[in-house]
Amino acid sequence: MRKLIIAGNWKMNAGTVDAAVQLARGLVAKYGQTTAVDIVLGPPYTALREVKAVIANTRIALSAQNMYPKTDGAYTGEISPLFLKDCGCQYVILGHSERRTIFKESNAFINEKVQCALAHGLIPILCIGETEQEREDGQTEAVVEDHLRGGLAGLTKEQVKSMVIAYEPVWAIGTGKTATPADAQSVHAFCREVITGLYDRDTAETVRIQYGGSVKPDNAKELLTQPDIDGALVGGASLKVDSFSGIIENSGAF
Ligand code: PEP
Repeated sequence: MRKLIIAGNWKMNAGTVDAAVQLARGLVAKYGQTTAVDIVLGPPYTALREVKAVIANTRIALSAQNMYPKTDGAYTGEISPLFLKDCGCQYVILGHSERRTIFKESNAFINEKVQCALAHGLIPILCIGETEQEREDGQTEAVVEDHLRGGLAGLTKEQVKSMVIAYEPVWAIGTGKTATPADAQSVHAFCREVITGLYDRDTAETVRIQYGGSVKPDNAKELLTQPDIDGALVGGASLKVDSFSGIIENSGAF
């Protein structure tokens, strides 16, 4: 039985470290000891340490939003897995569509990051998903398969089982448009078919696959109770205690 995992990707939002700390405090007050669902917070780098201090000794985990796949060196402006571990991160979001489109990250580079994160004890949340044009062109499955094959290249079964995949149709991110629960479910089931082909059924049935793309309190239940959807990666609605709480409450896990 896969446990739901609900992660907030705060992106370059929240504004200040103080605001990030307030948000984390509000969530700790409600869900600090929640075990029915895994809760993960992904603040900007500069707030990681302070948010970690707020969630220390709770069940809530910390994620970074990106990482450079080297431990150290002349990579101005980048952050290594060692710094993320040192800040208390357990997870790292990799291959988000904003990284793929704005920063031109390739499957090969994302795969390097996934491998490096795993090698340093960070759990990757590997984001995959098609653009609106690709969906209209009937390319959804081809794109998802390409992102999975590229992102998972060279990983062992055990590594894949330990990580998280986030299916995020790009056209649904930050737009208020959401995949219908049936469409999302069908892509998630397809992801498990691809992983079965690459590894085996056990690996495909073990890895958790979140849905992301305008998840809100009022659509969370229908999406998160689909058999192959194991939680949500949430952007906009993770920035307020009430809306993130609404998603957790409506996840069907309680
Ligand atoms: C995201 O950024 O991963 C995301 C899903 O954003 P939103 O929930 O705002 O669509």
